[in-house]
Amino acid sequence: MLKKDLIITIDGPSGAGKSTIAKLLARALNYRYIDTGAMYRAIAYAYMKDQRARGKGQTPYIEGEQYIKGFLKRLCLKFEFEEETKVYLDGEDISQKIRNQKVSMVASHLSKNRKIREYLIAMQRQSGKDGGVVLEGRDTGSVVFPDAPMKFYLDADVDERAHRRYRELSLQGTKDSLTKIKVEMVTRDTQDSTRALSPLVIPAGARYIDTTNMDIEEVLNTLLSFIIKRK
Ligand code: C5P
Repeated sequence: MLKKDLIITIDGPSGAGKSTIAKLLARALNYRYIDTGAMYRAIAYAYMKDQRARGKGQTPYIEGEQYIKGFLKRLCLKFEFEEETKVYLDGEDISQKIRNQKVSMVASHLSKNRKIREYLIAMQRQSGKDGGVVLEGRDTGSVVFPDAPMKFYLDADVDERAHRRYRELSLQGTKDSLTKIKVEMVTRDTQDSTRALSPLVIPAGARYIDTTNMDIEEVLNTLLSFIIKRK
């Protein structure tokens, strides 16, 4: 029998299939699913709203530490970790509104900030500490839960990842071209992998899985077989 309380982490670049797999894995194991990217996106959405309210433009730049401190203090964010990670800002469900390229880029920019990372990492640790959870993101196995007993790193060829992002965003109604999506994805990956704090890395002890030529079922079965073997 599988232990009920494992902490499982899945990290990797965008478009590697992390969210799809993390969701399916959580469902198969009857675990909770924590989409840490949604948490950074939520901060980005709130930041953009705050900037608009202050009459500032849309350029993603980080204001001084004093501003970030006050911004985090004012922030009224709530997360629900169920089948999907639900996000509420000032009581409004913004779970769908955070799913666009603009929010992705601002999230990647703000995720370099120490105060913002500390704020979210504390929440992630609190939400996952009792186990029975699949966390997915960029640093869940390297920083959030470095001692997690099961860690994965999903990767895929850059063109394949761009195609996956394109299909996902097209289904949501985005009109952006494949080329534009690929350029933004590569920019974001470079930013996420080269930042000083919690850069995207293959966590020590993580299983590296190249999903380029695998379908969803194959990836899910591969992860499940490692998890079951561990027992
Ligand atoms: O995974 P997703 O594309 O939703 O993440 C949005 C952004 O949030 C990433 O590009 C990254 O900059 C940031 N992020 C992070 N650490 C995580 C998850 C996401 O820095 N654990």
